Amino acid sequence: MNLFLKNYKIVLLISTFFMSCNTQQEVTVSKTTSNEVSTSSKKVKNIILLIGDGMGLSQVSASQFYNKKTSNFERFPVIGLSKTSSASELITDSAAGATAFASGIKTYNGALGVNTDTLAVKTIVEEISKIGISTGIISTSSIVHATPAAFYTHTKKRSMYEDIATQLVNSDIDFFAGGGIKYFNDRKDKRDLILELEQKGFSVNTQSLPMNTKPVFNKKQGYLLASNGMPKMLDGRGEFLTNATKLALESLSSNEEGFFLMIEGSQIDWGGHDNDAEYLISELIDFDNTIGIALDFAELDGETLVIVTADHETGGFTLAQDNGDYNKIKPVFSTGGHSATMVPVFAKGPNAIDFGGIYENTSIYNKMKSFFFENNNN
Ligand SMILES: [Zn+2]
Repeated sequence: MNLFLKNYKIVLLISTFFMSCNTQQEVTVSKTTSNEVSTSSKKVKNIILLIGDGMGLSQVSASQFYNKKTSNFERFPVIGLSKTSSASELITDSAAGATAFASGIKTYNGALGVNTDTLAVKTIVEEISKIGISTGIISTSSIVHATPAAFYTHTKKRSMYEDIATQLVNSDIDFFAGGGIKYFNDRKDKRDLILELEQKGFSVNTQSLPMNTKPVFNKKQGYLLASNGMPKMLDGRGEFLTNATKLALESLSSNEEGFFLMIEGSQIDWGGHDNDAEYLISELIDFDNTIGIALDFAELDGETLVIVTADHETGGFTLAQDNGDYNKIKPVFSTGGHSATMVPVFAKGPNAIDFGGIYENTSIYNKMKSFFFENNNN
């Protein structure tokens, strides 16, 4: 009995010791990040939502081991976990996953901007455009691919690319950049959607991003820079994602009412599907660098909330030990498809604190919408 008590005391002492260590650590952490976490007196004017398609925690961890620079993921003071299942399946696809972020509903795999009865549901882009907020989307896939499309389309099947392109022309989007020219100018119905975009007030560029000329602020801008998906990083995509992000931030931030920008690292998912670690990691590092651009902007601005998350994990990716050598990492995959694992959510800026905890993917939409409307009412 005495022995038990003695041990119990030791355990207590040890845990008190660790608790005090933890507390000290926490105090230090909150000191260094006090700007980010506690200056919530500022309201959210702008939101940058970065979606790493197929990016689970092992993918994020890859930036720690394979990126020569310190990972930008380490700049976030708040981290949560998102539950990704769709209405129809335990394991979501990108269409249902992005619809959860864009419209706040769980729907069936393959659906974009429609509910389980295939009825259209409002997107955040439609809702905030009505209160004068500018909107932009950037992806390294074609711009009509599931994730970007969920923000402007209502389509019962994600593969209806030409129909989705038509809906982009008639949407409220002010800035877009990605691939997919062929869905606009090489169509079954022979319509020239590039011309139609111009008639709707867009300046459309199918050659390159105008990095050395000033962007046209008074016009909507569209950049379609590949026939379908953008090239891989391994095939020389270069700085498309970072530069498109800089350009979008310059253009959209000229709106005093605020902006919403969605940026997708689409091909993290494709590297996962291919079980190709080199492909996946090169895309992840490009996405990490893009997060850096968003955070640099937000830190200067002070009224911008940056959220980084994923729609689901792809590949059942793990950074495993290599044949018993614990000093060597061997990236391995357990599936060629998606997995049901929760995905991380990183947040920085006003109201970032609301993103701690475990919640459904739909609550990311609910929080974003409430910040925009709360700001608008005051
Ligand atoms: Zn996928």
